[in-house]
Amino acid sequence: MANLAICGGDPVRSEPYPVFDSIGEEEKQAVLRALDGPNLSGFLGRKGDFFLGGPIVRDLERRWKEYFGVKHALSLNSATAGLYAAMGATGVGPGDEVIVSPYTMSASATCALVYNAVPVFADIDPVSFNINAETIAKVITEHTKAIVVVDILGHPSEMDDIMELASKHGLLVVEDAAQAYGASYRGRPCGTLADIGVFSLNRHKTIQCGEGGMVVTEDDELAQRVALIRNHGEVILRDYDRAGDTVNTLVDMLGFNYRMTELEAAIAIEQLKKLPALLDKRLAAAQYLTEELKDLPGITPPGVLPDCEHGYYLYAMKYDPEQVGVSRKIFVEAINREGIPLVEGYGEPLYMQPIYRERTLYGNNGCPFTCPHYKGELNYEMGTCPVCERMFFEEVIFTNVCHSSAGEEDLQDVVTAFKKVLSNIDELKQL
Ligand SMILES: *Cc1c(COP(=O)(O)O)cnc(C)c1O
Repeated sequence: MANLAICGGDPVRSEPYPVFDSIGEEEKQAVLRALDGPNLSGFLGRKGDFFLGGPIVRDLERRWKEYFGVKHALSLNSATAGLYAAMGATGVGPGDEVIVSPYTMSASATCALVYNAVPVFADIDPVSFNINAETIAKVITEHTKAIVVVDILGHPSEMDDIMELASKHGLLVVEDAAQAYGASYRGRPCGTLADIGVFSLNRHKTIQCGEGGMVVTEDDELAQRVALIRNHGEVILRDYDRAGDTVNTLVDMLGFNYRMTELEAAIAIEQLKKLPALLDKRLAAAQYLTEELKDLPGITPPGVLPDCEHGYYLYAMKYDPEQVGVSRKIFVEAINREGIPLVEGYGEPLYMQPIYRERTLYGNNGCPFTCPHYKGELNYEMGTCPVCERMFFEEVIFTNVCHSSAGEEDLQDVVTAFKKVLSNIDELKQL
């Protein structure tokens, strides 16, 4: 008689997992109040008070500043828009290199391409899965202008060393904290550790408003530039005070429409109020899983580097096929057949995507990768970031059930399935 579901036995679980859902009555009421409007968006792309958005958007920004203890917080309609605006604010352009992690969502790197700069990929640390000062230093060149640091899966980047390296080389640093709610480094919240920080409010993130993003900074000029890029900045430049140093740098501000509506802001405000409670549940879920899984052979729960608090956007483990005795693929399939969501690898190294492989983006003249302004040498070949490749192709497995909507039984089933598969490994070996 087979025990494992993959061999014909009964699965640990047959019901689907609860969908992560943090939206409740509070959000509903807030949207209804916002609908009394009359302006569902308070933005106007021209000079005047409405250039900076409507009352609810501004209320969200005020609360965000207070919560994260920052001088400026600007709402946008996605974190992708936030990254694009942040990159525009840094002033990178054709011929420049931007150092970024390959182990992240695509927009962490495309924000450079939008400004005709090119991403250069630094390798990641095998515990945090983030780039660090050591790997960044290896790829700094005379063309480097900025760094995008990502707190991937909710693990903080080791930011003090990175900021020190960046200031030595005169580089601006953007922190992509889309996944890092609840994460902190040396007691300071992720997202607030670099020159500009970017948060996501998309449906899958720890808090959400459907689609949305936030940019935070301590720097007045960077904040002003983000506000211009968010809302058709080119139309109001002539109205800006032309005294002072920022004049020339502000002339080149091309704006977009990255504006958040009042409805999304209304939801985001309620979500921000709930954030501490949502994080408590998520953290407790992660602690339970780690406690139960840490002694299983061949399974390494998420590592946490010194001085770091993890936000557990996803619960990512490492898998050792030698110790377990079957390949990662077979193990993951066996767990899946027990009714538990588990995935191999997380994101593939970004340089495997077609735009980098084929170096084709704007038209057919190679821009920005081989444009005449760019004097550096790019490497997007396999082998560029060996640790990242090893994590993706060999070691990492992750589950998305570790969140604030998961109940005790939902988490227990994960542990039961892991233990069941590992104690019946001989059945798997015979497959
Ligand atoms: C989700 C995410 C983004 C993009 O967020 P959107 O709000 O969907 O644009 C950027 N970077 C990382 C690391 C993300 O996880």
